[in-house]
Amino acid sequence: MKYISTRGQAPKLSFEDAVLTGLASDGGLYVPETLPQFSAEEIASWAGLSYQELAFNVMSPFMAREMPDDDLRELINNSYSTFRHDAIAPLVQTAHNEFVLELFQGPTLAFKDFALQFLGNLLDYILKKRDQRVVIMGATSGDTGSAAIEGCRHSDNVDIFILHPHNRVSEVQRRQMTTVLEENVFNIAIEGNFDDCQNMVKSSFGDQSFLPEDRQLVAVNSINWARIMAQIVYYFYAGLAVGAPHRPVAFSVPTGNFGDIFAGYLAKRMGLPIDQLVVATNANDILHRCISDNDHSLHNLVHSLSPSMDIMVSSNFERILFDLYDRDGNAINELMSNFKKTGKLALSDGALAKARELFSSYRVDDETLIQVIADVWKNNDYLLDPHTAIGVEAARKTRRRQDIPMVCMATAHPAKFPEAVRKAGYPQDPTLPHHMADLFEREERYSVQPNDLKVVHQFIADNIR
Ligand SMILES: *Cc1c(COP(=O)(O)O)cnc(C)c1O
Repeated sequence: MKYISTRGQAPKLSFEDAVLTGLASDGGLYVPETLPQFSAEEIASWAGLSYQELAFNVMSPFMAREMPDDDLRELINNSYSTFRHDAIAPLVQTAHNEFVLELFQGPTLAFKDFALQFLGNLLDYILKKRDQRVVIMGATSGDTGSAAIEGCRHSDNVDIFILHPHNRVSEVQRRQMTTVLEENVFNIAIEGNFDDCQNMVKSSFGDQSFLPEDRQLVAVNSINWARIMAQIVYYFYAGLAVGAPHRPVAFSVPTGNFGDIFAGYLAKRMGLPIDQLVVATNANDILHRCISDNDHSLHNLVHSLSPSMDIMVSSNFERILFDLYDRDGNAINELMSNFKKTGKLALSDGALAKARELFSSYRVDDETLIQVIADVWKNNDYLLDPHTAIGVEAARKTRRRQDIPMVCMATAHPAKFPEAVRKAGYPQDPTLPHHMADLFEREERYSVQPNDLKVVHQFIADNIR
């Protein structure tokens, strides 16, 4: 299968090249040229498959002819062997016809492990085959960094440099990154904020001359196609568990960069009967404003109790725009360059109508999410993390049909966000799973660097193996 850019100018790439390339040379994002289609009969025949078997069926058409079946099976098995629960993505019922899909059973307790455990193994596989080494550079406000490090710590052909804002990530989040002591892992605490880190990474991708000649940067944020692809699987897994394809299913997704929910949209296009997709946002509500008021404009960043969704612009939104505009790369190019100039983007009437048909949206503030955590704790004896609470509330407020099962994506384990959980009246800090019980005693290693791109480039150049 070939991959094309959302801005229509960059060359088509193979699956493997799309994974290594990240951002396209025309500034767009890579998407598959066509989507695999599964009939209802085929989907029905997958009922009862393990998560790993299902993952093979859903993902293999995207890599057609590039990876032998047995290699892909092995890669999938290795990627999900690090999860703490045999079901990989267990489903828990929280109300009549309402479920929570626990996507936090991976090594770093957030759903990002689904994609990044797989991406780490995939990179290792591609790079070994090509006898190539790469440098991963990423910025994190919390969950991405630890999941990426955990995915790549055993990759011989990868050196990974993760920038986080010094003293501005939670202690659990910092320690999840800095206690990984492998030689290819480098944590850099930047004396600045998350945007400073992100800007450094962006400029570095634009000019990679600070790297030795035989190295290139690889992206681990959700602009990397492999991440989206791996996330399509759990929509099918949950859908089958609640009765699809014999009956439709709905999903509510706590959304930041639009990666997770975009995977849900793809699952629908591939044949899963999804009746409703809910975009759940926190106070950083550019997506909710876009869908409800056609107001996709930059607002200042708000620091919320759901920090993994604190974003001003959703990078994957461009991928859905591409489809809303009938895959017209020129239209997307124009929209995005206008947005860059003015900080505003208005959808055409046709695109807006399609977006509203595909997605419901809802915004949840901190006060409400605290109440939701408290209510679900009281009524169900079940502890939600703050991001998941936003999804649950949005589902309850926007739900169209009570007779269709609603699956809320539980994107993080509550122990990762003790502040919100305490505010909801929970009597203690939620307990970390036992593989992390000694997190606060482990040795840490990281380097504090000034908010200065030259200095950071020098640090990277000095430490590449
Ligand atoms: C990253 C993250 C999100 C947002 O996911 P997107 O794919 O960026 O929309 C939501 N919740 C948690 C806990 C996360 O780590």
